[in-house]
Amino acid sequence: IGENSKGSFITSATKKRPDGRAFDELRPLKIEAGVLERADGSAYVEIGDNKVLAAVYGPRELHVRRLLKPNMAILRCRYNMAPFSVDDRKRPGPDRRSVEISKITTEALNPAVFLEKFPRSTIDIFIEVIQAEGGTRCAGITAASVALADAGIPMRDMVSACAAGKADGQVIMDLSEWEDKEGEADLPIAMMPRTGDITLLQMDGHLTDDEFEKALDLAIKGCKIISEEQKKAIKNRYGD
Ligand code: UDP
Repeated sequence: IGENSKGSFITSATKKRPDGRAFDELRPLKIEAGVLERADGSAYVEIGDNKVLAAVYGPRELHVRRLLKPNMAILRCRYNMAPFSVDDRKRPGPDRRSVEISKITTEALNPAVFLEKFPRSTIDIFIEVIQAEGGTRCAGITAASVALADAGIPMRDMVSACAAGKADGQVIMDLSEWEDKEGEADLPIAMMPRTGDITLLQMDGHLTDDEFEKALDLAIKGCKIISEEQKKAIKNRYGD
């Protein structure tokens, strides 16, 4: 790409991002399981300046007959952003974006849960974004999986979520809010790292085929790192 002030050659692998991260570096990550007394399962995730809580209720009997499935449970997710989570106060209540994120979160988690073990039931997941800094859908999915595990709900694997994308001409892992807004592309994914199954893939912006491959590789690498932290959070709460 060029030379830095010391005359060293700068490549896309050595060029730092606005927050000083390398192209393949996550923001600082913290995951805690079992943070809420009242829910059946819960988790708290911080990634960079994102702060996200997830609470799980269930499995419990479902009384809404039109939703009920006689041979399995249903999963219901509500993603919500607190009014104080963003720079401009967010108007409380659901909007198009939160309805979409609630839907894709349900779809990202559904394949992981052994729903057939709980006929006629519901498992409800509430995701509350307390502070947002880009990548809240991924942080929400990551938190929800840990909360499901904390609730003792049997799963094929905990789903991990991470975005990659392109900003300032560089393909990068885990976009910050600035990189998301000013960048050229955003590719959030969710996966079950144990099986390699991808349960969410969205894309906003433009990537060439080659850049897409690189971004997907970075997002998968991010998910694997996050997966290890999710497992540590459960171990910290329950022991090995
Ligand atoms: N954002 C905001 N106000 C809103 C929605 C989003 O400031 O009403 C910010 C927030 O930091 C969020 C980022 O824009 O994380 C990117 O939003 P996007 O819709 O791409 O979803 P996300 O990356 O959070 O999954």
